[in-house]
Amino acid sequence: MIFDETRDILEIVRRFMHFFVEESCGICTPCRAGGVDMLNKIERVVAGRACQQDLDECNQWAELMRCTSRCGLGTTAARPIITSIDKFPELYEAKLSKAKHTLLASFDLEKAMSGHAEVFKNLVEEVRK
Ligand code: SF4
Repeated sequence: MIFDETRDILEIVRRFMHFFVEESCGICTPCRAGGVDMLNKIERVVAGRACQQDLDECNQWAELMRCTSRCGLGTTAARPIITSIDKFPELYEAKLSKAKHTLLASFDLEKAMSGHAEVFKNLVEEVRK
């Protein structure tokens, strides 16, 4: 495939991974689970919430999927991420979180807490009664 400079490589990779997740039949655990995890990781990269550990784990998934998947879909599904990390490392480097706190960069605290603030407030009011 040929893309011109107007295309966002990371978005192309995200779409490829979405395709592989949709097309996996799910028989092999590495293909089924690895595809979903790698899609989550590339979405974190695009959102600027990924860390180096996410990329390292992509490499581990890629090797596991390549060696243990039963068909060509699973053995090649990781290639968009792995190839783009290799050919365009600067795109990933620019997106990796530089956060230096104790929470994993990939952990979205606001999202995890969404909806709970109201529950917590009601609980506090219940206790005060
Ligand atoms: S590698 Fe092939 S057979 Fe295995 S889960 Fe993926 S699509 Fe199915």
